[in-house]
Amino acid sequence: QAKEQGRNTYKIYDKAIHKDLTKKLELVKRLRHAVNKQQLTVYYQPKVELSSRRITGFEALVRWVDEDGSIIPPDQFIPLAEDTGLIIPISEYVMRESFLQLKQWHELGFTELSIAINISGKQLHLPDFADDVIEKVNEAKVPPSKVELELTEQVFIENIQSHTRFMHSVREYGMSLAIDDFGVGYSSLSYLKNFPVTSLKIDRSFVKDLPDNEDDATITQTIISLARNLNIQLVAEGIETEEQVEFLLYRECATGQGFLFSKPVPAQQVTQLLQQYNGLIPIQIA
Ligand code: C2E
Ligand code: MG
Ligand code: MG
Ligand code: MG
Repeated sequence: QAKEQGRNTYKIYDKAIHKDLTKKLELVKRLRHAVNKQQLTVYYQPKVELSSRRITGFEALVRWVDEDGSIIPPDQFIPLAEDTGLIIPISEYVMRESFLQLKQWHELGFTELSIAINISGKQLHLPDFADDVIEKVNEAKVPPSKVELELTEQVFIENIQSHTRFMHSVREYGMSLAIDDFGVGYSSLSYLKNFPVTSLKIDRSFVKDLPDNEDDATITQTIISLARNLNIQLVAEGIETEEQVEFLLYRECATGQGFLFSKPVPAQQVTQLLQQYNGLIPIQIA
């Protein structure tokens, strides 16, 4: 009887795996189709100088526009894109599109604006990826100093020679390098010493419960002091309240990003926002 039960358990498990796989394959098929049919788009979220509310630049965030017009967020397809190699054409698209967009905003007179793009660890395994990025920057004729690459901690943990080479190549070319989601995972302070990093993005999870949560307040304060002492730029992610701005400003975190200022929006809306408010974020009075 035990044997019988075992077999049934196995069957159920097998079925679940099968269902999961089928779903995944279906999603891969749809994603491949979306990439071919250019059903991807880029949204932009402002980075804001907290003291002046001036927009200093944008983070490019990819979106998948489904057949019915609904928007599929990156968390639902980036991991799959990485596993299947589809991240390569997706990233080429995001780079080409967002660099050209930045060029347009520069031409409108907002020449100080920068663009940040997210790079996943998988991409750094590609031979010549640094050359690929540099080529895209050249094609769009944007100053490399206005391009920032956001890398997650995974990349630093792996600590592979090719990754380090990538970082030095893009830095030598004049681009900036940020550690994204800093503080989650296995943050090691040695990253800051061993890699040519120019900025840190404090993860949203630490900002979320500021200023009331004492642990988060301490952690944030510590990251801010650390960055200041090492002369590294700081961006706080996920700012949603004026109290958070006040906390961060008082502790001299210069830059922030979050729904309080703006959600990620299509390029056209960014252009409107820039022109209407001359590069400033209107202070929202709730
Ligand atoms: P990320 O790079 O940490 O991007 C920040 C995420 O936080 C974005 O989610 C943004 O919409 C969200 N966010 C910003 N401010 C707030 C806030 O005030 N409150 C809350 N609750 N959320 C906020 P999104 O666009 O869904 O992107 C999720 C992740 O997907 C990104 O995290 C990034 O790791 C990845 N991703 C997005 N676009 C790309 C891309 O083009 N290439 C690669 N490789 N990864 C991408
Ligand atoms: Mg990012
Ligand atoms: Mg982030
Ligand atoms: Mg984050």
